[in-house]
Amino acid sequence: MNKDISPDYRPLDASTIIDYVWSRPELREVFREGEALHADEVGDGNLNLVFKVWAQADPERTVVIKQALPYLRLVGGGWPLPVDRARIEAEALQVEYRLVPEHTPRVYFYDPGMYLFAMQNLNHHVIMRKGLNEGIKYPRFAQHIGVFLARTLGMTSDLVLDYRTKKLEVARFINPELCKITEDLIFTEPYRYTERNGFHKELEPQVFALQADEALRVEVAKMKEKFMTQAQALIHGDLHTGSVMINQEETYVIDPEFAFYGPMGFDVGAVIGNLFLNYAAQEVRMKDPAQRSDFRKYLTDTVIELWHVFEREFQKVVWDQVDPINMPRAYQQDYMLRVLQDSAGLGACKMMRRVIGLAGVADIRGIEDVHDRAIAGSLALNIGQALIMGREEIRTIEDLVEVATACKPTYPWKS
Ligand code: ADP
Ligand code: MG
Repeated sequence: MNKDISPDYRPLDASTIIDYVWSRPELREVFREGEALHADEVGDGNLNLVFKVWAQADPERTVVIKQALPYLRLVGGGWPLPVDRARIEAEALQVEYRLVPEHTPRVYFYDPGMYLFAMQNLNHHVIMRKGLNEGIKYPRFAQHIGVFLARTLGMTSDLVLDYRTKKLEVARFINPELCKITEDLIFTEPYRYTERNGFHKELEPQVFALQADEALRVEVAKMKEKFMTQAQALIHGDLHTGSVMINQEETYVIDPEFAFYGPMGFDVGAVIGNLFLNYAAQEVRMKDPAQRSDFRKYLTDTVIELWHVFEREFQKVVWDQVDPINMPRAYQQDYMLRVLQDSAGLGACKMMRRVIGLAGVADIRGIEDVHDRAIAGSLALNIGQALIMGREEIRTIEDLVEVATACKPTYPWKS
């Protein structure tokens, strides 16, 4: 893979980045000739270098620079990854910015020799997962993410794009190595023995039972096939609550390096599945029952509202524009139902892998007490299993929420 790396490529650090910033004419609208700049590496990501650069005189004049490393940081040099993913990410952000600028950081430029891009610093926002784990509600999230999903998915699909543009877009966003990570970590490894799985001992009986369940493996295989073959829309590909930067007023989606043409339900399901992961974690995180049920109601109301917003916006930007002769109302309704059922099944896979597989989520793996962690993990697995196995009976988003909220943790085991 290294032979494909540009000879200009050198990973930046907090000191070399300042000279680099001055070499970019695109950033002259942010920084003033000769002024003092500061830079810091954020460095909580697994795959990339992320720097914040700001003017000493005015920290509000600031950008974020994200540069791809040729290997996965989490496991060092042992796991090579194509640096071209920085181009995919920058180009996906540019598409999203065109469709929903209010929820996408602006990209200043992409540098194809350095595999990096500069974007708007969302310095008044926090990672949503962190906020949810602190019990913070974001009342506008459902509205914002519903619009983001409808526009980015609907308007990049065959329903809106002309026949040629669609195919060229599929080609531009071919992303085999990052898709392979998803195929392995989400759809393959959680359902078999592998050393990379990350569940802990207390959960073994439930995980082993799940892995032994052939009917479940059949449904997961169908979801994997859908992920690999259904070039329905330009999907973000990693739309968990760690890819959302948020505050009480605004919502931004970052980090689309896994973007490619895939099934819409993978993004919608990622959002819903991650809200249910937090729902499962609250089983032990929030000790006060009244506070817990109030927060969970916020989470399930959010799932319901985001779907209704998604449907309404999709109606406006897609269905109101199509020819009703070839796409009659009943087809449109069937299409939306299939996206809903895909979201249940694909979101379920995203939930189960966060408990069983290599990469966990702080909501659950961040719970210190192992018994508490097992309770939350057990509930998340049961919700995932119920959603994927029951998805074909789901007709409405309210049905989906009912399937999920009927679940209980299996741990601790009754002997
Ligand atoms: P990776 O793909 O390596 O996981 P992310 O895109 O998730 O990297 O970014 C890592 C971290 O950097 C994020 O969790 C967030 O804290 C910060 N970050 C990324 N993009 C921005 C941005 N545009 N503005 C502010 N902070 C950002
Ligand atoms: Mg990432």
